Amino acid sequence: MRVAVVGGGVVGLASAWYLKKEGAEPFVVEAGRVGGGCSLGNLGWVCPSISTPVPGPGLTWRSLLRAVRRDGPLYVRPSAVPGLLPWLWRFRSHCNRADWERGVRKLVALNARTMELYDELATDGIDFEFSRAGVLIAFRDRGKAVERREELAAVSAVGASVWREVDEGGLYELEPMLRPGFSCGFFVESDGHVRPETLTAGLAVGLRARGVEIFEGTAVVGFREEGRRVTAVRTDGGELDVDAVVLAAGASTGVLTRMLGWKIPLTAGKGYSVTIDGPKNQLRQPLYLGDAHVGLTSFEGALRFGGTMELSGVNERLDPARVRSLRRVVERDVEIPEAREGGREWVGMRPMLPDTLPVVGRVPSRGNVFVNTGHQMSGVTLGLGTGGVVAGGLMDGTPGWGK
Ligand SMILES: Cc1cc2nc3c(=O)[nH]c(=O)nc-3n(C[C@H](O)[C@H](O)[C@H](O)COP(=O)(O)OP(=O)(O)OC[C@H]3O[C@@H](n4cnc5c(N)ncnc54)[C@H](O)[C@@H]3O)c2cc1C
Repeated sequence: MRVAVVGGGVVGLASAWYLKKEGAEPFVVEAGRVGGGCSLGNLGWVCPSISTPVPGPGLTWRSLLRAVRRDGPLYVRPSAVPGLLPWLWRFRSHCNRADWERGVRKLVALNARTMELYDELATDGIDFEFSRAGVLIAFRDRGKAVERREELAAVSAVGASVWREVDEGGLYELEPMLRPGFSCGFFVESDGHVRPETLTAGLAVGLRARGVEIFEGTAVVGFREEGRRVTAVRTDGGELDVDAVVLAAGASTGVLTRMLGWKIPLTAGKGYSVTIDGPKNQLRQPLYLGDAHVGLTSFEGALRFGGTMELSGVNERLDPARVRSLRRVVERDVEIPEAREGGREWVGMRPMLPDTLPVVGRVPSRGNVFVNTGHQMSGVTLGLGTGGVVAGGLMDGTPGWGK
């Protein structure tokens, strides 16, 4: 079965990987470079412990409005508000306990095999930077740590994440680069991280070695259809015949589903990162600054910090003010001399649905088209899991990572 996977980010590549393992003949169509979208400059955390949806029972319109500041972790660009109102309305409608608990169960289920799948990938010979050093979460404000404790407890009650509370002394022992003023935190020893660029590059090498074609610089612009089935993807370089299609085009997937008569409320949750090559100091493990919602990752020979959630439409415009506020937080909280002005700045579009859960499955209006997107802040964590779900679903209706 010839399957076009549209999108060469971590989600599309993982879908192609498991399709191949399930016996299909996938090929990947990527508008730009493989791994050049949101999968490029993210923090690379593989963290099933964060199996929690963003809309929660405590979020009200008032608390949302208070959180929305240009230099804060959440920002909605005023000019984008009219276009985003339906999305924001739906997001708000998911801010209740029942939806949140349902979301936790769904994410925990999708993450059930995450670590095992990463180990398998390495065993299969995929060459990528992977560490199981855990993640340290640090708080200045004890009050803010309470919510995170509840989230960790909710996930470990139904999942397999292993974590412990850390007092002030423990924090500085685990991470001497923290500046003074932190009071408490958590160490999640079951989480890990990858260098995301090496993961997508490694998957691309592994796919090509197994005969999977990857068309880079080739955008899908439409579909040839017969009845309720797609028989070819139309690209800017010509038509490619298919038996089935997986749409995994990140934040742009909604444009493609609309062409097939299915509107999904997908938007971009923009985030920023700064990568410092050869940093003067290095972290012992990934670090989350819980009060400011900023993460830092140590890679081999590099250090990256990033975060922020900006709703300003589907575009890759980098707002220098947002990067400056990110730099200010890191400079204040961690001993990184390059934080103020060094490193490479990057912006990425997280694919976000209002319930912040991935959408994985068949497009209702077409018999042979599947979608795999909406991984929001967790595409690296969830990508292998949902890749197997979509591959197995397409082949025989049951999730599969290589039967
Ligand atoms: C600052 C930041 C930090 C993050 N940190 C983490 C983290 O630590 N852990 C984690 O799990 N997640 C993290 N994420 C989230 C993660 O990066 C995303 O969830 C993930 O990269 C989404 O992958 P994707 O394959 O769906 O999208 P993308 O990587 O964006 O891939 C989609 C691809 O589709 C292509 N495309 C689009 N339209 C077309 C078309 N018409 N035809 C052909 N190709 C097309 C694009 O060019 C793109 O390459 C972070 C995100 C940000 C912004």
